[in-house]
Amino acid sequence: MNLAILGATGSIGSSTLDVVARHRDRYQVFALSAQNSAEALLALCRVHRPRYAVLAGLRPDAKLAADFRSHGTELLFGAEALEQVATDSRCDVAMAAIVGAAGLASTLAAARAGKRVLLANKEALVMAGPLLMRAAREGAATIVPVDSEHNAVFQCLSDAKAVRRIVLTASGGPFRAAPLESLDAVTPAQACAHPTWVMGRKISVDSATMMNKGLEVIEARWLFDLPAAAIEVVIHPQSIVHSLVEYVDGSLIAQLSNPDMRVPIAYALGYPERIASGAQPLDLTAMKQLTFERPDERRFPCLRLAYRALERGGTAPALLNAANEVAVDAFLAGRLPFTSIARVIADTLEAVPAAEASDLGAVMAADREARRAAAACVLAVAA
Ligand code: NDP
Ligand code: MG
Repeated sequence: MNLAILGATGSIGSSTLDVVARHRDRYQVFALSAQNSAEALLALCRVHRPRYAVLAGLRPDAKLAADFRSHGTELLFGAEALEQVATDSRCDVAMAAIVGAAGLASTLAAARAGKRVLLANKEALVMAGPLLMRAAREGAATIVPVDSEHNAVFQCLSDAKAVRRIVLTASGGPFRAAPLESLDAVTPAQACAHPTWVMGRKISVDSATMMNKGLEVIEARWLFDLPAAAIEVVIHPQSIVHSLVEYVDGSLIAQLSNPDMRVPIAYALGYPERIASGAQPLDLTAMKQLTFERPDERRFPCLRLAYRALERGGTAPALLNAANEVAVDAFLAGRLPFTSIARVIADTLEAVPAAEASDLGAVMAADREARRAAAACVLAVAA
């Protein structure tokens, strides 16, 4: 099977390559991409020898191209090249592991082209859930969720008609138990120090605000075609139970493993078969306890904002996503206090009316407008 990994230099990208390296007989790396980490991408190409590499954020550069060519890899430049490799007739599987809205176009293109799409880029579904699911139906693509919660639900689903609700678990992030007054002074390093998962910076901040779970509720709504009322969130600090499905008979089915993204990645790669992931097996008797608690809305206002955007529909989730990306960037750059992230998102949703999300153009227009409004909100908060 030929595999394109979009976002190869990231956290999901490197876990994917780790699993792939355990199954050389099964997977060939066809293409790898990064935004502008040329050195890191070249190092990956030396090991994995893909046909193509893409630097989505760079303009053509003959010297760089020659470096890649010396390892047998053709280097492409610019965001359009992401779609080119993901839809290439020789590519069977696309791992969508770009972070944020930047991953939408290539994910959508891979779905339209009927590829097997391993979906880590949750922002694509948040922005354009109905469009992406329709593209997959029309293109006869298979979307296998990589996000650990959705991968767990996917694994636990047997009779979709008989589902009463799904329960997405959340770790609660690094500030689950911190005094509320201390959150104003939180630094990017503290927010990115996740207690159970090692991830990219954006999703780490999203986990600290719990916007990550809000995005995941929207992701689940479209992946599993369930109303928001049937999607519940509970905090489970140990990150062992990755999510649960409850059926009409009262059975609750869960998927458990150590918190290691290679487990859902290996499942998505191998589906419907199971393949080794390299993760440590779970030692049940070494586990002290598994606890579950309700999220505190005052501590995690982003969760409610996400449910509200989902209820409002149309482009509202795309507005929410864009405002969140702008606010998280500003926080990581030291321009916005942690506790103002939710504020910027709420103000943006107030300022920009949601419209019909009829096509990709409408979604991208909403994304641009929300980014402008959110940037203004950041300045207003900082002033
Ligand atoms: P990282 O920040 O670690 O990696 C992001 C990757 O995307 C890098 O390869 C980066 O390239 C590339 N990239 C960044 N911006 C752009 C852009 N504008 N255009 C093209 N490529 C770009 O992110 P993660 O691996 O943590 O997350 C990836 C996705 O997976 C996110 O949507 C996240 O929500 C989701 N996810 C991640 C999990 C995790 O454990 N990390 C768990 C569940 C979901 P470069 O190196 O050049 O910047
Ligand atoms: Mg997740």
